Amino acid sequence: MSKLIVGNWKMNKSSKEAQELLEELAKKSSFCCDIVVCVPYVHLGLASRLLHKSQIKLGAQNCCHETSHKFTGEISVRMLKDFGCEYVIVGHSERRKHFAEDDLIINKKVLLALKNDLKPILCVGEELHEPDGSYLKDVLETQLKIGLAKLEANQLKNCIIAYEPAWAINTKERAPLDHILNTISLIRGVVRELTAVRAAVIYGGSVDFTNSAELLKQPDIDGLLVGRASLDFSEFTKTIHSCPH
Ligand code: PEP
Repeated sequence: MSKLIVGNWKMNKSSKEAQELLEELAKKSSFCCDIVVCVPYVHLGLASRLLHKSQIKLGAQNCCHETSHKFTGEISVRMLKDFGCEYVIVGHSERRKHFAEDDLIINKKVLLALKNDLKPILCVGEELHEPDGSYLKDVLETQLKIGLAKLEANQLKNCIIAYEPAWAINTKERAPLDHILNTISLIRGVVRELTAVRAAVIYGGSVDFTNSAELLKQPDIDGLLVGRASLDFSEFTKTIHSCPH
């Protein structure tokens, strides 16, 4: 299975800046792994036009948990699909924290995305760095068991789990490798209780080209979710090229 690298632009880029970066990315004819860029909603149309002949797949950073029309300011999964999205980030720690998204709402988004043929990238991870004791396990069990509730076993193969410890996002230092590997193994254990299907698990939190190679060569890490380092063409492509061939 080839590794997956997902760029999360968050709330960045004017339309001119978005166009420049997308054009540069679209010009690259081959990548050694699967690439997704999750752009702000307002750039989806532009990204869809510019990336459509490239190898890069399009993703959104969120979606509405309902399908009815009465949700002012929201964007439905059907709209995302209509714009050519193949992926959608769900339950990012910034949405959990600033928009009070809970696991039940996140589960609705996961189910809706799958029903509409979009691959959800379900973000899970702890707020605090407390590797000892039961805190980490309790947080992840709750997020995964509720977040993935009511999924049919075969749907899990279209779902990506992003392990993102909130304390390692947007900092100067990535989480240590042994912490990432231990937690991913914990995640796999919880998921195995739900289904025999092997889920894709990627890591996110202050990844850039200086620390990505070590992660990408681990068989248990299926890819990366990259925030800040996906905003710059050279940094993002160097991160991508750190993937072993
Ligand atoms: C993120 O927000 O998903 C993320 C991984 O950000 P950063 O790489 O900037 O820590």
